[in-house]
Amino acid sequence: MLKVHQRCNLACDYCYVYTMADQSWHDRPILMSREIWSAAATAIAQHVTTHDLSEVQVILHGGEPLLAGPETIVAVTTAIRTALRGTAVARMAVQTNGTLLDEATLRVLDRNDIRVGISLDGDRADNDRHRHYGDGRGSYLEIDRALRLLGSPRYRSAFSGILATIDPETSPVACYEALLKYAPPALDFLLPHANWSTPRPARAELAHPFGDWLVAVFDRWYDAPSQETRIRFFEEIMNMVFGCASRSEDIGLSPAVVAVVETDGAIEQVDSLKSAYAGAASTGLSVLTDTFDAALEHPGIVARQLGPAALSPRCWPCELHPICGGGHYPHRYRAGSGFRNPSVYCADLRRLISHIQHRVLTDLNDRGQDSAAHIGGGSMSELARLPLIASSVSG
Ligand code: SF4
Repeated sequence: MLKVHQRCNLACDYCYVYTMADQSWHDRPILMSREIWSAAATAIAQHVTTHDLSEVQVILHGGEPLLAGPETIVAVTTAIRTALRGTAVARMAVQTNGTLLDEATLRVLDRNDIRVGISLDGDRADNDRHRHYGDGRGSYLEIDRALRLLGSPRYRSAFSGILATIDPETSPVACYEALLKYAPPALDFLLPHANWSTPRPARAELAHPFGDWLVAVFDRWYDAPSQETRIRFFEEIMNMVFGCASRSEDIGLSPAVVAVVETDGAIEQVDSLKSAYAGAASTGLSVLTDTFDAALEHPGIVARQLGPAALSPRCWPCELHPICGGGHYPHRYRAGSGFRNPSVYCADLRRLISHIQHRVLTDLNDRGQDSAAHIGGGSMSELARLPLIASSVSG
């Protein structure tokens, strides 16, 4: 993940970069310089050669990456692809708030094979409650325009998906359907970043409001007559129910595989650690002087390669730990005891994982007992879901 621009034109109230513990954005260069992105390209190429990789995914991030301008985005992309020529494919993507994505910019991104993911939290009221400008004006109208453009036949191949942060005050199914209106190829639902020392304000009357919210979306998605979109968080849990490894940082016990390069060249751990404490993502390394392999020796990253051994002793007896993996690493933090705690979303994760486990295993059992009755039924839960799992497993 390359942080090409350090500022944002929005002031979303849950943003971990600007509103939580680590405020290092303030002291870094606003824009990534050519020197830094060239060094990042060299470090990526070195890593690809060392590990004989055939493909690498590079996400251009911020702040708001489109503030860097399409020329810079293309220059960074060209530098990385040039450095990798003859060795590996660079799959490039931009994760943007969408407000600056006009047709001229999208044309440039599409022409350069750079895919686009956009953040949106639901319909206008739900989105604008949290995703707004500094003066309080909502961002929905600009994002809606960008998503319609991105979903149009001309640009649809550049559409990587929508990323939505959950607010348990909203209606889950209405939120899901508001996002579905753009026919995204994939959706990511994110738990707002929180930990035991900085909990999110949540609905105190509910034991697991985020779990309940996700369960409602899961049932709506899973019971649809045909697959309407992919929801990676659910798919990862389903894969793990069948014993496969997670490919997500958000859930499961798989090793961390994301490195972040800041605008000053610092190599950091996953960005969301900034929600825990100042310096939590830091490794002390830089693309100007170090390799990505050096980051693998940093204690914070080592801890995230250990699987169950790095979990809280309170997670070990939990029957869900092979799937949950203690949840997203930053959500385990507590001042004074670090990251060896269950997730602050433990109750929510239990609710969701148990529900998904029950639903898919029940379906599988029914299918095994009465397969003839299901053939030709065509419902998502009974048929389409199983090939999806199979293809994910084989992939
Ligand atoms: S965070 Fe909670 S649900 Fe997840 S493994 Fe730990 S105890 Fe189990």
